[in-house]
Amino acid sequence: MICTTTQFSYRKEKLVSNLEEVEGIVLSVRKHKERDFLVKIFTNTHGKLMFFVRGSKKPTDSLRSAILPFSYGTYIADIRSDGLSFLRDVKDIHHFTSMQTDIFKNAYATYILSLLDAALEDKIKNPGLFEQLKLGLSAIDEGEDPEIIMNIFEVRFLYHFGVMPNLNSCVFCGETQGKFDFSSVHNGILCERHWVEDERRYQATARAVHFLRLFSILSFDRVGKITLKEETKKEIRWLIDQIYEEYVGLHLKSKKFIDNMYKWEAVLKKRPAQKNGTENEN
Ligand SMILES: [Zn+2]
Repeated sequence: MICTTTQFSYRKEKLVSNLEEVEGIVLSVRKHKERDFLVKIFTNTHGKLMFFVRGSKKPTDSLRSAILPFSYGTYIADIRSDGLSFLRDVKDIHHFTSMQTDIFKNAYATYILSLLDAALEDKIKNPGLFEQLKLGLSAIDEGEDPEIIMNIFEVRFLYHFGVMPNLNSCVFCGETQGKFDFSSVHNGILCERHWVEDERRYQATARAVHFLRLFSILSFDRVGKITLKEETKKEIRWLIDQIYEEYVGLHLKSKKFIDNMYKWEAVLKKRPAQKNGTENEN
């Protein structure tokens, strides 16, 4: 990706630029040459943008810490209509510190950010999603179950990948109550009466489909009210993975890391008997 150099260096033509304050969440940071950085930031007003940050010799440089992974804040930016934009300064900065120190939170948050990066086009403004990302990352930082938050984003990002299935009601009759299974052939959920319509339906557990539907609408302040047993989490994970495999076909390194994490986590943790899991439907 070093080739991006040509996009910003020494351009002669005049580019439209504005110095402005933007609220943003750092998606990724990459060192560029000796001291400079390329930082991808999801901004509330301009969507996803790549910024060039000129390095400073001063170790106390405030911009330097403002572009750390898992930071969000208000940046003073020179937004260019073409090519790279530039970060000039920072006003308020907040770090989701637990993600910088906790390997599990780090893994979930890293995956959420890279999935968002994959799902969104550059420069498409989406303040609603920006708020959700901020809430979701804050919830992880504050100790809510990161796996549930990851699942919520996975389900919602299907929309941004342009492949949102109908999770609202049976695709045949509009039923919203009862047991459901998932059918990729019919692009949505099937009520029990219509299971016959697809013999290759997923055979997911009704519980997993229930949470899949719930996660498509759940607000982040309700996450704390949900406790899931390991078994249920596994079923949900299987269902979402199937959907992603079939609908999106993306294989992110950060997801692979999480999948491996489950394996060694199972070995490592003899967790002190988990709180008796109860599924809460609301
Ligand atoms: Zn039906």
